[in-house]
Amino acid sequence: MRYIDPHIHMVSRTTDDYQRMALAGCVAITEPAFWAGFDRSGPQGFFDYFTQLTKTEPARAAAYGIRHHCWLCINPKEAEDPGFAREVMGLIPDFLDKPNVLGIGEIGLNKNSKNEMVILEEQIALASQHDRLILVHTPHLEDKLKGTKLIMDAIMRNGSIDPGRVLIDHVEEHTVSMVLDRGFWAGMTLYPDTKCTPQRAADIFEMVGTERLWINSAGDWGHSDPLAVPKCRIEMQHRGHTPETISRISYDNPLRFLGQAGTFSADPIQTG
Ligand SMILES: [Zn+2]
Repeated sequence: MRYIDPHIHMVSRTTDDYQRMALAGCVAITEPAFWAGFDRSGPQGFFDYFTQLTKTEPARAAAYGIRHHCWLCINPKEAEDPGFAREVMGLIPDFLDKPNVLGIGEIGLNKNSKNEMVILEEQIALASQHDRLILVHTPHLEDKLKGTKLIMDAIMRNGSIDPGRVLIDHVEEHTVSMVLDRGFWAGMTLYPDTKCTPQRAADIFEMVGTERLWINSAGDWGHSDPLAVPKCRIEMQHRGHTPETISRISYDNPLRFLGQAGTFSADPIQTG
């Protein structure tokens, strides 16, 4: 069965991972801009990173029949210095017209600080000016609930953003309902030991249903699993969920949300 992994950081993964994902049925992915595990020494580092996301990775993925798309932003962890963050944001408009770009992301908050909020608001405005989708990262620590509320309030304060064009990622049991209730889409991140395990994600689907909800691996440079989405599908299958339900969370829902970008495709790649 075909699936989409709508949040995975392939710059941190090997080509063997692309191959294993393709074998497991992956046909398309989306890669948000994130903190690479170290702070870049200057805006030029982001120019190189955005080039990698819009040029190098799509070619690497296509070799395995996987369509690669990306999101651009300055991540909250490196947004603590507004001057630096604005220089990086100044690079983004030139990349927005690249064929695999979906929108602005993953933006959000890390420590819920004042500077992070200023840059978050400016990146929401950037998405609004260019009429782009938004992908939101929510904090992983105990302040996830507060951070999620602050982010949703900031998005609605902008006044011109349709929540149906925003996906709030890394939701958990205590944040999923408030995200869906306000009209946003929600993403569950499947991590082997932190965030959601495939079992917890299956529990959440059984609690809140499958409307406007997707799963992703968020595979990155840390302990993570690029095959988390197919593993969650197996968990759902074991619990007796129908193929339609399993396809909805791992293919149809991502296709519906991402389809709004106009640049997303899960169609087979024609080669030769
Ligand atoms: Zn991420």
